[in-house]
Amino acid sequence: MTATLSSTTATAYFTHLKCKECGAEYEPQAIHVCEYCFGPLEVKYDLSQLAAAVTRSTIEAGPKSIWRYRPFLPVTSANPIDVGTGMTPLVKAQRLARRLGLKHLYIKNDAVNMPTLSFKDRVVSVALTRARELGFTTVSCASTGNLANSTAAIAAHAGLDCCVFIPADLEAGKVLGTLIYGPTVMAVEGNYDQVNRLCSEVANTHGWGFVNINLRPYYSEGSKTLGYEVIEQLGWQLPDHIVAPLASGSLFTKIYKGFREFVEVGLVADKPVRCSGAQAMGCSPIAQAYAEGRDFVAPVKPNTIAKSIAIGNPADGVYALEIARKTNGAIAAATDEEIVAGIKLLAETEGIFTETAGGTTIAVLKKLVESGKIDPEEVTVVYITGNGLKTQEAVQNEIGQPLTIEPKLASFERALERSRTLERLDWQPVLV
Ligand SMILES: [Zn+2]
Repeated sequence: MTATLSSTTATAYFTHLKCKECGAEYEPQAIHVCEYCFGPLEVKYDLSQLAAAVTRSTIEAGPKSIWRYRPFLPVTSANPIDVGTGMTPLVKAQRLARRLGLKHLYIKNDAVNMPTLSFKDRVVSVALTRARELGFTTVSCASTGNLANSTAAIAAHAGLDCCVFIPADLEAGKVLGTLIYGPTVMAVEGNYDQVNRLCSEVANTHGWGFVNINLRPYYSEGSKTLGYEVIEQLGWQLPDHIVAPLASGSLFTKIYKGFREFVEVGLVADKPVRCSGAQAMGCSPIAQAYAEGRDFVAPVKPNTIAKSIAIGNPADGVYALEIARKTNGAIAAATDEEIVAGIKLLAETEGIFTETAGGTTIAVLKKLVESGKIDPEEVTVVYITGNGLKTQEAVQNEIGQPLTIEPKLASFERALERSRTLERLDWQPVLV
């Protein structure tokens, strides 16, 4: 599939889909499961052609979005759907680093990704571009919230019909942040794993493009850009250690794949990168398997405030486990209380307001430092994947209240005096 240049198609370097389990190969169509062994399918590329065609300069001359890495993504369009997704800040987190006892800590801040403030905009931009190429006019997804936001928004931009499926108990901000784009929203009375099973049936009967089901091999490749960007933003170097949240496990495995691809095509010098993962204690099937030394992931029933990562039966869990082990990383879990503390710690030290998934990642980062799993000298990158404004319920009773005053200087002075005598956690609404 190379050298097909016209006004609408560009040179593409992906060649086929391959089963991760048995190695069976498939044409790059809308399929995601191997028909021989039911293993997941993954996109394969001609890396030697890529190495010959792509340099640091060609990437740097590209758009300020994930599409600067278009040759590494499974699309043929010369004009992919580009809503400014990607190239989010890599922030040197000096205050958080000091608090934790680290020396070189960075936050990859996808809480400000465009257009819907989570890393899902990366995977959806790729999936919907590929959906359009494959002739789909209706796109859909099974979502824990962020994916619904992203699919609805980017489908609206691209003029695709959209129907999304969410668990009925989702946070209000995520429901509103989907409805605003005008898709059909199905709120399913069940947990994410039940929503996902229903969507597989709909995909089979209605022929829609489900970004995380029949388009999953393309969709998941979008997460590789979180690896590429960190390499580029560190001045074309790999970090020593990364910490990322684990839901299905896909994000984690694709960041790793992104690192390996840039090494293989010669864009970055090779060195070991330790990959560590974070789960919420109330839904931690991968962390449990890691702790017990198992090589299989036993499904659990989720019960945590970290709904966006509450996947009880993670599709890529075993692959995430394998990567954490072979890179000498670790996987740990945080309680809901620790997750809230993690959200507050990141906000108060770095000015970044993340959702519960990010709170989980910060809480686990802290645990890994305290247990000696992260060396203070390591260049450590923490992935913050979503925005706190979407999950305000998680912290609304944990952050105090404004001091209500009269519009008079004397009232302000009294309130200021009082605020200085109160411990922050004891803040109450006071009229002075
Ligand atoms: Zn197979």
